[in-house]
Amino acid sequence: MTIFSRIIAGDIPCYKIAEDDEFFAFLDINPVNWGHTLVVPKRETDYIFDIEDDELGRMMVFAKRVACAIKEALPCRKVGVTVLGLEVPHAHIHLVPLKNEGDMNFANKISDPDPEKMKQIAEAIKANF
Ligand code: 5GP
Repeated sequence: MTIFSRIIAGDIPCYKIAEDDEFFAFLDINPVNWGHTLVVPKRETDYIFDIEDDELGRMMVFAKRVACAIKEALPCRKVGVTVLGLEVPHAHIHLVPLKNEGDMNFANKISDPDPEKMKQIAEAIKANF
């Protein structure tokens, strides 16, 4: 079981944004920018491009809904999309609100993000989902 499956199961706490039958969205615990969100399929697959076409399509549509909610909730120009997958072997899409290019710098994460601010951001995004 991956750490993301344990989060989805509720065994590990997270700042949850949304879920449906197949997908789950929550704040990244080490955000590159405030509102940095992960979209994860409940079915475990390591590499995103091993996901079967229909499921991958539905995952992107779910991510779009989450991105729209982020854009409504937080001041940004656009919501950026990245796939890395180098750390956690459970496919996921990173969604990051952007004002400029530097807001998507994975080498420059927010250190020790304030839990109260994370909670407020998650609530604001959730309210717009
Ligand atoms: P990647 O696999 O895309 O290279 O990176 C995994 C991402 O998941 C990282 O941005 C990291 O901060 C995030 N992450 C790893 N473990 C946890 C966790 O337990 N909870 C949350 N919310 N995010 C995590």
